[in-house]
Amino acid sequence: MTRAVLSIGSNIGDSRAHLASVLTGLAPHVVAVSSAYRTAPWGGVDQQDFLNAIVVVDDPATDCRGWLGRAQQLERDAERVRDVRWGPRTLDVDIVVCRDADGVDVRSDDPELTLPHPRAHERAFVLVPWLEVEPDAELVVDGRAVRVDAALALLDADERDGVRADGPVGT
Ligand code: AMP
Repeated sequence: MTRAVLSIGSNIGDSRAHLASVLTGLAPHVVAVSSAYRTAPWGGVDQQDFLNAIVVVDDPATDCRGWLGRAQQLERDAERVRDVRWGPRTLDVDIVVCRDADGVDVRSDDPELTLPHPRAHERAFVLVPWLEVEPDAELVVDGRAVRVDAALALLDADERDGVRADGPVGT
């Protein structure tokens, strides 16, 4: 089995529809979907709030590189627009963790596909929706397995509280 946890986000146009396009695009392989969460943007750029969610997918025929390719195709399909780092984006799809056919979470330092995603453990908009669908989730941080709820507890309360559930991803 190859299973991936995807973090999806959008803050341009109909963000909920952009997130829903991921569910449509990966439909037969989606095993869990969090609520949508509204999140204040990072990086001090003036822009609308992000809508974020976590999608868990599973497909024996898609390895971790395959999930990256599919994620990037979904971004292109959403006519991704991003001119400014941390600026607005139509759709962003990141691989948070990926378990390959050997049943072990893949670890990679390759800049093309870094696993686990190197910033996931410090982003409440990843951890909060992830815990909704996998309350016992873990990821490796600096070579150590860390519970996701413990990683979230280390973040500023303001950041945790800034991630607010906002209905389902699909309409
Ligand atoms: P960004 O759009 O800022 O999320 O960055 C996209 C770039 O990050 C692409 O060139 C990807 O190849 C690379 N990348 C590295 N690791 C990951 C990952 N775990 N998930 C998604 N993209 C990744």
